[in-house]
Amino acid sequence: MALKVTLIPGDGIGLEVTSATKDVIDASGVDIEWEIVTAGSSVVPAYGAPLPQYVIESIKKNKVALKGPITTPVGKGFRSVNVALRQNLNLYANVRPIKSYAGIPSLYDNVDLIIVRENTEGLYSGVEHMVGNDASESIKIVTRKACDRIIKFAFEYAKKEGYKKVTAVHKANILKLSDGMFLQSAIESSKKYKDIQFQDMIVDAMSMKLIQQPQKYDIIVAPNLYGDILSDMAAGLVGGLGVVPGANIGDDIAVFEPVHGSAPDIAGKNIANPTATILSGIMMLKYLGKYEEAEKIETALSEVIKEGKSLTQDLGGNLGTREFANEIIKRM
Ligand code: NAD
Repeated sequence: MALKVTLIPGDGIGLEVTSATKDVIDASGVDIEWEIVTAGSSVVPAYGAPLPQYVIESIKKNKVALKGPITTPVGKGFRSVNVALRQNLNLYANVRPIKSYAGIPSLYDNVDLIIVRENTEGLYSGVEHMVGNDASESIKIVTRKACDRIIKFAFEYAKKEGYKKVTAVHKANILKLSDGMFLQSAIESSKKYKDIQFQDMIVDAMSMKLIQQPQKYDIIVAPNLYGDILSDMAAGLVGGLGVVPGANIGDDIAVFEPVHGSAPDIAGKNIANPTATILSGIMMLKYLGKYEEAEKIETALSEVIKEGKSLTQDLGGNLGTREFANEIIKRM
């Protein structure tokens, strides 16, 4: 029986990279029935909101979704659809593997770490207001429950995937209550995992060390904002945003999407790198238990990249989004 998966193409380069990824996944032989639903500014005139209920319902029903990036207006306009989706479906863990691939020009060739980002609260809680005309407040919300579950997720993920060390990132020297709670939760939980090394690190020091010696880290678990920033920075170590996948995982629902945004500067030109979305698709297939098909795609993708002749522009090549996907499909 076909697996049902919700596909949200997104906007900007989302349309191009999800279309390429869907074709690659279908070519692997896996039997997926895609339910394609649209969210973002294009549906506002018809539905009055960028995240219509039918999108939520489709994901709740199918339990798994592949999603392209969706543009969020800066400084005004609607709240991020991406953040709303994660909060609405309680997708509390954002998993972002940062890995170097042979053939991708990068600062280091042996990076293999995972950033686990708290995905539902912190400074992304959406509680913001003006205080008079000349002041504003954005409230950072941190709860013990959310801290405990993201820390547990990080240790369990380390155990399951065979990683040896968990590093908790915070700024508890300054934010003594909010980040202090996150750190306390990490210290307490770490005692239950005797076989996994634990350390904590202040986010500014972490930034420097990640640039200098990324090989020293396995799982990095961080509050929402730090995780977001550190993962884009770490993407820069291994070839950029075009190659870093992601997953938003809750207790029984998961939405897979690249780390990058809708890249309006290159949208509609068939030059975006679909690798990050294809790797997100591979994560999705593994989550669905389709290891054989996931490996088939991973092997073909690695071969294309390793040869170095057929790359997209961001990696120094001259292939288009579609042509790059076709190279992968040819090798499967
Ligand atoms: P971005 O990630 O879209 O782009 C940053 C830079 O990386 C750009 O120069 C872009 O061309 C390049 N880039 C990104 N993906 C690429 C790819 N696949 N191939 C080649 N180059 C790539 O970040 P931004 O410009 O800050 O954000 C654009 C929009 O995306 C904003 O509205 C933002 O809110 C939204 N966004 C959405 C998500 C999401 O849907 N999960 C995530 C991040 C940003």
